[in-house]
Amino acid sequence: MYRFSRAIYRDLQPYLLKDQLRPELGQRLLLSACERTIERLARDHRRFARPAASLFSDVRALFPVSMQLMVYDVIEVHMNNALAYLDEEIAERGSADLLRCRATNRKGKACQRVPVTGSDYCPSHRYLEKVQQQRSSGMLAA
Ligand SMILES: [Zn+2]
Repeated sequence: MYRFSRAIYRDLQPYLLKDQLRPELGQRLLLSACERTIERLARDHRRFARPAASLFSDVRALFPVSMQLMVYDVIEVHMNNALAYLDEEIAERGSADLLRCRATNRKGKACQRVPVTGSDYCPSHRYLEKVQQQRSSGMLAA
């Protein structure tokens, strides 16, 4: 799930208001707002009304007025992707405990460990993330 919060952060980060005293503060606030929203979405997306609007109201003050519409559009696109992904996961895995590691263990059962922050995998399965990224970029190229 964190790939969605990372994607929002990556696309919006260049447009943050430039605060010369504490340039890292806006980045930190943006990233944590994105992660909080995606975590809440993963836990209970059916009862999270208008997640894009919610994240937008959390972060809009970090951007210049002229960028607000663009910021909203970026958030909405990624949020729709995240919701589509959640629906697929739930259809595929029954209920989706999306804040668990995505890997399966040697016995073929779902890994029960908690993912590393910013990753879909726990510390022992983190290497799978690179494999997955290579696979999905390969699929895009094909
Ligand atoms: Zn794991």
